[in-house]
Amino acid sequence: MLIRRPRFEAVLYRLLISSSSKCIQMIQGTVTGLVPSSDMSDIQSVNVRTTEGEEKAVKDVALVIDCTGSTQAGIKWLKSAGFISSPESTPDDIGRTGTNGDLRISYDHKLRYVTVTFDNIGDLVQDLPIPGGFDQAGFIYTYYAHCKWGNEGFVLTRMDNTKIVQLCCGGWGDVHLPKEKEDILPYVHSVKGARPAPQWVTRVVAVLLESEEKGDATITFKPLKIPAPSFVQYYKITHNLPSNFIAVGDSEMQLNPLFAQGCSKALFGAMTLNTVLHNCVASEWLGRLPKNFSTLYFKRSHNTLEDIWSVISTKAIDYGYSTTIPIKGENRTKEGAIVRWYAYHAARAAERDEEVASALWHVRMLATPQVELFKPRVILGVLRWAVTNAIAQT
Ligand SMILES: Cc1cc2nc3c(=O)[nH]c(=O)nc-3n(C[C@H](O)[C@H](O)[C@H](O)COP(=O)(O)OP(=O)(O)OC[C@H]3O[C@@H](n4cnc5c(N)ncnc54)[C@H](O)[C@@H]3O)c2cc1C
Repeated sequence: MLIRRPRFEAVLYRLLISSSSKCIQMIQGTVTGLVPSSDMSDIQSVNVRTTEGEEKAVKDVALVIDCTGSTQAGIKWLKSAGFISSPESTPDDIGRTGTNGDLRISYDHKLRYVTVTFDNIGDLVQDLPIPGGFDQAGFIYTYYAHCKWGNEGFVLTRMDNTKIVQLCCGGWGDVHLPKEKEDILPYVHSVKGARPAPQWVTRVVAVLLESEEKGDATITFKPLKIPAPSFVQYYKITHNLPSNFIAVGDSEMQLNPLFAQGCSKALFGAMTLNTVLHNCVASEWLGRLPKNFSTLYFKRSHNTLEDIWSVISTKAIDYGYSTTIPIKGENRTKEGAIVRWYAYHAARAAERDEEVASALWHVRMLATPQVELFKPRVILGVLRWAVTNAIAQT
């Protein structure tokens, strides 16, 4: 979905409220902590500071879901409530591992990113030399960076199904991202890869810039700090967790946004919760959560999350750049070397082989399990490209 975050959030809220408003009570504020039951088996109440500054306790909670995103506040709540006793790394401890069963692991990809938005384009859209025309356009062009050639890339895309075009530029380590409009075309020309961007791509950007020169289109720059990827491995410490605590989305695992997997991953968490709840309804625990609910949830999701973290997301690609600081104890060049090799050759094979392209897309969008990438027909397509390429280079 080519939709910017504020609109996407509004759509999700509207869908949620229109279907379930009678069952939802909202409290605007910040969750500040959890109160455990006397035997430490579960959470009894949740402390909230409302936006008006009032301290509130939400009592007799059935289930607490940490969905605080990159704040990953659950770690702090569990620690101050006494569920996690020994020190563990926090979102500020980049590249270190924790001591509570290595609860939170993290590496620093040193990713930099800027979004350049072209607005008020008006009728100019008809002049943009996009193959197939603007009306059919979604992702207009993606320049995919790879450590073999360079550390910078970009995505040129139409947003919100409107006449807004965004140029999202990003790269690893030492980057030269555009800061003002004079930098934009040189940046598009300077990215290095297997091939330069087609001429129509630079022409589209040039037409947009010309429009701004004439006083029509407007350009805004939004540089963004990309948080370091991290994985809070709750499944390793389920014996310490309160039975009614789970985490969903970035609060459990935060990825490099390059493959746009964050929302699918959050949906996967919601689907896992749905399945575990349905299983409970069907069991003797009807109407209550079983005493091992947290364990059931984290154990059920962990294999898929491990796959996402190690294979399907960008970790192996991030480790291809010498500027990346790996997880403590991991060797940047050795770790994920096979995944890196396969991912590179699959991406190149996908340029011409529809079976490989389809498998790569479905797996990276978390729509099918990663085994899809290792079906004989897909392996064959990848190896065929690798061999042909090797012969061409000799
Ligand atoms: C530059 C960039 C581009 C991205 N592009 C894409 C993309 O194209 N596609 C995609 O799928 N994903 C993308 N992502 C990732 C995606 O944004 C996240 O994976 C997704 O938002 C995670 O959702 P979440 O609900 O877990 O957390 P969030 O969306 O971060 O929401 C967490 C919420 O919890 C609130 N909160 C924090 N602490 C507390 C507290 N103590 N009490 C109460 N509330 C609290 C926060 O204010 C926030 O509103 C991108 C990320 C970045 C940084």
